[in-house]
Amino acid sequence: MCGVLGIKIKNPVLETRANEIAMSALLRLQHRGQDAAGITVLPREGAFQSLRGLGHVDVALKEWPHLPEPRALVAHTRYATTGLGGVAEVQPFVQGAPRLAMAHNGNIVNTSELKERYLLQCESESDLEVLQQFFLRHEIEYGFEECLERLHRDFVGSYAVVGLTEEGELFGFRDPYGIRPLFIYESENIVVMASETSALNFLKDFEVEADLGRSGTLREIPPGSWVRVAPDGKIEEKRTAFSSAKTERFCMFELVYFSSPQSEFAGLSTYRHRFSMGRQLGIEILSEMPNQKNEEAPFDYVVPVPETSRAAAIAVAETLRVPYREYLVKNPYASRTFILSTQARRLKALETKLSLIGPEVKGQRILLVDDSVVRGNTSRLMARRLREAGAKEVSLASACPPIRHGCYYGIDFPDADELVASQMGGSNPQIAKSLGVSNVFYLSIGGLKKALGTGNLCSACLDGDYPSAGPSFERFLEERRAQRVVAQGAAGAATRTPT
Ligand code: SF4
Repeated sequence: MCGVLGIKIKNPVLETRANEIAMSALLRLQHRGQDAAGITVLPREGAFQSLRGLGHVDVALKEWPHLPEPRALVAHTRYATTGLGGVAEVQPFVQGAPRLAMAHNGNIVNTSELKERYLLQCESESDLEVLQQFFLRHEIEYGFEECLERLHRDFVGSYAVVGLTEEGELFGFRDPYGIRPLFIYESENIVVMASETSALNFLKDFEVEADLGRSGTLREIPPGSWVRVAPDGKIEEKRTAFSSAKTERFCMFELVYFSSPQSEFAGLSTYRHRFSMGRQLGIEILSEMPNQKNEEAPFDYVVPVPETSRAAAIAVAETLRVPYREYLVKNPYASRTFILSTQARRLKALETKLSLIGPEVKGQRILLVDDSVVRGNTSRLMARRLREAGAKEVSLASACPPIRHGCYYGIDFPDADELVASQMGGSNPQIAKSLGVSNVFYLSIGGLKKALGTGNLCSACLDGDYPSAGPSFERFLEERRAQRVVAQGAAGAATRTPT
């Protein structure tokens, strides 16, 4: 998963503040990728200039005040799901003549087939390089519109892309199913595209404070559509014919875990979606314990695994009428463990990420609520800590149904062998045993769709119904496993280096 950003300045007054706007937006996309960040700016005069680095935005791009004032830019926060994770893979990529800067969020599954079919010579392992080379070649040959028709036809996977030409044309497009998000803010002064509304909704206030009025509108770029902003600011938009035949399949895991709680999808905040999932989960827990409805509560406390599960846990507690307590404390300086790129890094980070207020749980029956259970690392560690602190009983509730299948669309669990619900043969008692808890409760798939108010979601990791099935998956998985061996070797070396 990654965050993408594209900015086109229409009112020259804002050119002096474009980089500041970009950094504000990028920090609001930090949760989508912490491995690296990059920015490519187009000054009023002269060629592209880029900054790229590993780590968080404030570290990777600390030299941003020295960038020239741009009339347009593209930028990226990276979460490595393919490639080896080095600086060479940090986006935006600048390729071609004339030059084109591009950044993307998602995973192209069939890059090897595309390289062979179109004889693409790539220097990195990044799927963006394949996409960009394809785009450059086909755009020259067929023009922008036909190029994107062909891209949507040939590329398997998920992609939300922003691109910028050296002439000053900004564009963005999404895959035919709209698996990954992309939004646009348009006003008389500026056009901004970004992965989430959390990176855009400060712009109205920004324009008011800059005495530029309140003219902006914010909306989703529809699945399979492209938006193009000409150098003079004129906007064109279209859904490709290939995409129009497809059904929307937005990634449900964006709502479960990935997106910022204040970001909006389908007109509601992600917080509201998570609260609805928690309420439905509470209803389903009650139905699994029919005898408990009118008797003593089955748990003493509902405890969220911070931060993402908080809204769901509050709803579970309200539905079960069990007190809610925040007995797990998150270290705000630790990375999001799920999006670290190797198991070794995840486990090491997890040890410092969460701590328990131990004396509070002694003798208590605790229901831990997590947004999801993927590999089971967090649940296993928390259950152990709770038991060691003297909890009488530990149960676990997941606001996401069991994740049994790999994701090939940009969330970093392509390999079903790593998933606890897949390893354990699918039975809840076996999963509970593996995690070290007394009971495990999962939101049902039907319950998830009911809570989110739509069935037009990708839920392939839950039910195996992939929007774009194909033989490419097996090859992708083999290549990804090979890359992981190299990446884990590098991480092993890094852990021996005092930092
Ligand atoms: S497989 Fe799961 S995580 Fe991957 S895109 Fe689909 S819903 Fe999202």
